[in-house]
Amino acid sequence: MNIQQLKGIGEKTAALLSRLSVYTVKDLVGLYPRAYDVYEKPVFVQEAVEEHASEIVSIEAVVARNVEQYSTPRMKVLSTVVRDEQGTSLKCTWFNMPFLRSSLKPGAHYVFRGQLAKKKGSFVLEQPQMYTMAAYAQLQGSMQPIYPLTKGLSNKTVAKAVKQALEKYDTCLEKEYIPVDIRSAYQLAEHNFAVQRIHFPQSQEDYLQSRKRLAFEEFFLFVLAVRNMKEKNTHRLNEYRILNDARTDKFISELEFELTDAQKKTWEEIKENMSGSALMSRLIQGDVGSGKTIIAVLALMNTAFAGYQGAMMVPTEVLAKQQYESICSMFEKHQIPLKVVLLMGSMTAAQKRAVYEQIRTHEADIVVGTHAVIQEKAVYDKLALVITDEQHRFGVNQRRALSMKGDNPHVLVMSATPIPRTLAIIVYGDLDISIIDTLPAERLPIKNCVVGTNYRENAYKFIAGQVKEGRQAYVICPLVEESENMEAENVTDYAKRLREELPEDIVIGVLHGQMKAEQKNKIMDQFVKNEIQVLVSTTVVEVGVNVPNATVMVIENAERFGLSQLHQLRGRVGRGSAQSYCVLVSGTKNEETKKRLQALCKTTDGFQIAEQDLALRGPGDFFGSRQHGLPLLKVASLQMDLETLRDAQQAAAAVIQTADSLNAPELAPLKARVEALFTRQEVSLN
Ligand code: ADP
Ligand code: MG
Repeated sequence: MNIQQLKGIGEKTAALLSRLSVYTVKDLVGLYPRAYDVYEKPVFVQEAVEEHASEIVSIEAVVARNVEQYSTPRMKVLSTVVRDEQGTSLKCTWFNMPFLRSSLKPGAHYVFRGQLAKKKGSFVLEQPQMYTMAAYAQLQGSMQPIYPLTKGLSNKTVAKAVKQALEKYDTCLEKEYIPVDIRSAYQLAEHNFAVQRIHFPQSQEDYLQSRKRLAFEEFFLFVLAVRNMKEKNTHRLNEYRILNDARTDKFISELEFELTDAQKKTWEEIKENMSGSALMSRLIQGDVGSGKTIIAVLALMNTAFAGYQGAMMVPTEVLAKQQYESICSMFEKHQIPLKVVLLMGSMTAAQKRAVYEQIRTHEADIVVGTHAVIQEKAVYDKLALVITDEQHRFGVNQRRALSMKGDNPHVLVMSATPIPRTLAIIVYGDLDISIIDTLPAERLPIKNCVVGTNYRENAYKFIAGQVKEGRQAYVICPLVEESENMEAENVTDYAKRLREELPEDIVIGVLHGQMKAEQKNKIMDQFVKNEIQVLVSTTVVEVGVNVPNATVMVIENAERFGLSQLHQLRGRVGRGSAQSYCVLVSGTKNEETKKRLQALCKTTDGFQIAEQDLALRGPGDFFGSRQHGLPLLKVASLQMDLETLRDAQQAAAAVIQTADSLNAPELAPLKARVEALFTRQEVSLN
């Protein structure tokens, strides 16, 4: 129903509301308050000034004097004194409200609600609103909604419109769709009650009840959708039965290293999936350096040997190029007769066309690249496996779209970001999970330290020493260039300074996200070839880059990063057989922060670090600022409602027993909501 059918909402207000994505009455009802104004029990003046200075307070009192009126150049002021039951007086002032004068007769009895302020040493209640006892009693304890607004739109207008919508148009409300047994098991309020009361709670209790219900349903629907997807996946017919190939076994046996037990186990799970009756949807989770790439390569080999094509998608061009080159050289070395091609957005149109042609004709067996590999123009002959690396930047919706591209390929997701178990289901609930929890054996643990900025000189000497021994180093800064908003090191100036500190024969390179892809590739290339020895970079090197010869990681303004992110960065070194070092530089004086950084030095377990990060910084770090892959949460917060999330997970697990569970007739309303979730949040792949 159109919003303009509400009284008081004309074209102009409708236009303002549309800026808040409110177009229909239903949208309006879904515009939840962002905060509340609470009408507390009135207090005495004494308590107000002692405990609530500079807050909004309510005071029951009588007008004790004749009102004075005076003018300043800019406004008309009314002023009087009120006195409470204890006999304490308080001055009240109103600006530009001369019409109140008639209500302020001495002896008039009200609750005065306004901002308490201290002016010239004494307290004043500013712009108080007046309520009769009866009127205030009605409001007391209630929470008045404060809505998200836009310029020109008042809170009052929105509140009035919402009230009208809730009272007159119950058609804009949903029918209850959570089965009654779940509602009683988790003590959830009824849906419509919750929606009404989230707007106009009568009490704190009301508000908490409503919030709990609405947070629960947001989680519940999402988890249901994800679980349902997983059930469906396990029943989706595998049309690409890919058997293990003897040539892959031979390749494994000729590798210069032996697979770790965790790698072997993961590889078995993948082989079983790919040759089994159902399609594979699997996540490989393994800390940085645990050796996920080789597993991906094995899966691609079996796929190609079986006569199909495989694609591997990575988040950055730097990484795409690196993976492509490392696969090519591996294949060359072991004489694997498979054709690998590289596809990236920054290639020229002609280059891309040539690659598309190789894909279409199946001249290419394996395609490595960025998002380009799954875009429409890439038409495969027989795409049977899609691997995405560092998938945490790629959400459930995209995965769903991906599995609908082409003819249901096997899907393998690789992630180096250990995420706390509680959150895993939100991000990866649709997948089976393999965990690679051991690092290849001969690695030496990285040596860590946290130092103040006065240690820099030593750090530079240390870097110079390592370079002299043939090693390379990273220096990470939070910023690309100087910023007005943030006091932190930037790569541009830092590289210049470093130039003056390090011996001349050391080549310093700069890498950051604002550079063109081509430029980045070139720099990375030079670093890989050791033509650059010291790379000053932003966190773009965080994802997956592999330069085993690099042994030093210096992180400036370490306090600005989350522990998980620092752990990721640290994982760029310690990849070869030489001893590696991680130096966290921080000028922080905050003891808590120092402790947090020290803690990182003591542990190498990414999952443990992730749990700590979740407790300390909330879930943002695991998903990035754009919250990729997360459902749209209006009420629920991953920070505040973990308990509710667990409840919702438990409830969803009980509902979805088979792929058919949601088809039960009594669950029809629930099913409709789950399906709506994806269509509303559809995300384009590009
Ligand atoms: P990540 O899991 O971070 O993607 P990589 O796959 O890039 O890690 O592997 C890191 C390095 O470890 C690579 O140089 C790779 O060749 C090597 N590697 C992988 N598996 C093993 C193993 N079982 N033994 C020794 N080295 C290995
Ligand atoms: Mg990797």
